[in-house]
Amino acid sequence: MKITANLAQIHNEISVAEKQFQRDEGSVCLLAVSKTRTTDEIITAINANQRHFGENYCQEAIEKIEAINRSDIIWHFIGPIQSNKTKQIASHFDWAHTVERIKIARRLDEMRPENSPLLNICVQINISGEESKSGIPIDDAADFINELDQFKRLKVRGLMSLPAPTSDFTEQRHAFSQLKKKLHDLNQHRLNQNRPELDTLSIGTTQDMQAAIAEGATIVRIGTAIFGPRHT
Ligand SMILES: *Cc1c(COP(=O)(O)O)cnc(C)c1O
Repeated sequence: MKITANLAQIHNEISVAEKQFQRDEGSVCLLAVSKTRTTDEIITAINANQRHFGENYCQEAIEKIEAINRSDIIWHFIGPIQSNKTKQIASHFDWAHTVERIKIARRLDEMRPENSPLLNICVQINISGEESKSGIPIDDAADFINELDQFKRLKVRGLMSLPAPTSDFTEQRHAFSQLKKKLHDLNQHRLNQNRPELDTLSIGTTQDMQAAIAEGATIVRIGTAIFGPRHT
């Protein structure tokens, strides 16, 4: 099936980019973005050894997570988080990449089941400064993450962003480089304060994966290149 060949191709591209941009081999995790895809398509990817999946819509995601019902799959929530969905997200997902409000973080913390491991969190940054876009301004990241440290059921892992689309490689790198630098600066402070290092930069989609890897992506979120064009 095409999905299997596409996954092999992307793994190859990731490994070429890791070498080209002096990244450690295997340091970039492929997150398969499966929003709008059927359970069968996801299972095809699972059979090709894909383990990390990203979903944007809570209801759709949970139906698929329950139908697939496998404990070895790591589910990432990457869509906007509504307050009334925090309980479902906290109980069905391993990661939430799109935290941008303390109120939402507090609810995720309260709702995370006691018997589950800590919920992995990324803070979403609005790097292009578009008003319509989700995420906090990059200059607010340090204060925001300081506040997140109060939540005992959350594990803050790093930064996530979805910059304004551009096909220009230099522009793509420019947006991502600001996130790379911010993560570095945040970690300098954390090191001094004996707080755990942030190890995650969730950047890069089908269109700008290479630029993201060049600028330190540890998770790339790829939909179209794996599953083909979305029809919805
Ligand atoms: C849909 C989506 C992606 C994947 O985009 P593709 O262009 O299909 O690779 C990545 N990140 C987020 C937040 C998305 O919503």
